[in-house]
Amino acid sequence: MTDIVSRADIALKRDLCDHCLGRAFALVGTGTTNEARGRSARAEVRLEREKNGEELPPHEKCWLCGDIFDSLPRFVEAVIKALSKVEYNNFLIGTRVDPEIQEKEERLWSEVGQDTAEPIKAELNREIGKIVEARVEKPVEFDTPDVVALIDTRFAQVDLDVSPLFIYGRYRKLVRDTPQTRWPCRQCRGKGCERCNFTGKMYPTSVQEIVGDPVQTAAEGTNHFFHGMGREDIDARMLGNGRPFVIEIRGPEKRNLDLESLENIINENGKDRVEVIGLRPSSREEVRKVKTASPNKTYRVDVVVHGKVDKAKINEVLQSFKRTRITQQTPSRVAHRRADMARKREIIDLHLEELGEDSFTFVVRTEAGTYIKEFVHGDNGRTKPNLSEALGVPCEVRSLDVIEVNDDTSEE
Ligand SMILES: [Zn+2]
Ligand SMILES: [Zn+2]
Repeated sequence: MTDIVSRADIALKRDLCDHCLGRAFALVGTGTTNEARGRSARAEVRLEREKNGEELPPHEKCWLCGDIFDSLPRFVEAVIKALSKVEYNNFLIGTRVDPEIQEKEERLWSEVGQDTAEPIKAELNREIGKIVEARVEKPVEFDTPDVVALIDTRFAQVDLDVSPLFIYGRYRKLVRDTPQTRWPCRQCRGKGCERCNFTGKMYPTSVQEIVGDPVQTAAEGTNHFFHGMGREDIDARMLGNGRPFVIEIRGPEKRNLDLESLENIINENGKDRVEVIGLRPSSREEVRKVKTASPNKTYRVDVVVHGKVDKAKINEVLQSFKRTRITQQTPSRVAHRRADMARKREIIDLHLEELGEDSFTFVVRTEAGTYIKEFVHGDNGRTKPNLSEALGVPCEVRSLDVIEVNDDTSEE
């Protein structure tokens, strides 16, 4: 007797179906099914026993699984019915089985060895997956399935776990009073109160809502999350090539969206406030990249000067900051929510754009994370060196626009 036949002989001291018998030897070879493995092992055990004048009792009901594999068609129907409610391009099957079945499986392994065995869930997932794949004409996807159909085999009940939908784009924010993300009212925390005019929000709308609401509607999702590549101050506009973002829609029933028309709908929705460009499908992986990127940025800064200063002096001072590093202690305006620390940031390039009576406008490109307002007014010496100090007159930012986010994709 070969090792496998003698182990199968031990296994068949109990009544097992071909699946459960074959699964004990699942890792012996490829290119066949557990059912076929079980069938041939059973035939060999029968021959061996007949040599000894013994009989192998016929299979009646599997001690281990209770012939759960006879129910595959039922599981398949339940999965297909559940899947028909959502749009997906690929899927994965998961199963919950009776804990008693798993205990019995471990008991069997302890008797016949588990080095070649495969868990029953793995076989159920695979066998159901194969049939569903052929029926729905969409592939099983292991790494990032659009939807996981989780079958509770005790009741042939299917729960769908629909993966979020991710869409990448760049946004421009054309107004100065709109935050990037939804901001719940500080006083009522979103419930609605007098302070927030019973909206539950600090601001009537946000880039997130202007972009996310139409996408959520189109995708028939449940809610949205906004992942921006950094953020500008609420009172700063975001112009130029826009800022990269990924919008995440949870629980989407539709995921093959017409992104071109969606772009139009968003831009209509955000008219004169927010617009998006370059929508395309994205992924959770890209969210991570967008969140961790630290691109240089270019700003247009409108500065009020409290005193006299001439063009030559401004040009000279701006010139002197090219390719220098400044040290910024956490600004007093954000100190309540960020750790107080000093950081060095590079001022890469800057030039004067316009000079007025008591104001001037300059353009500056800086390393990610530079606090521009503080670079201009100095924040009581917390930013050093700073523009006010270098000019010898107090200055402050009247308005600020981001005019370029210089990430990898913007300079193609
Ligand atoms: Zn069985
Ligand atoms: Zn409120």
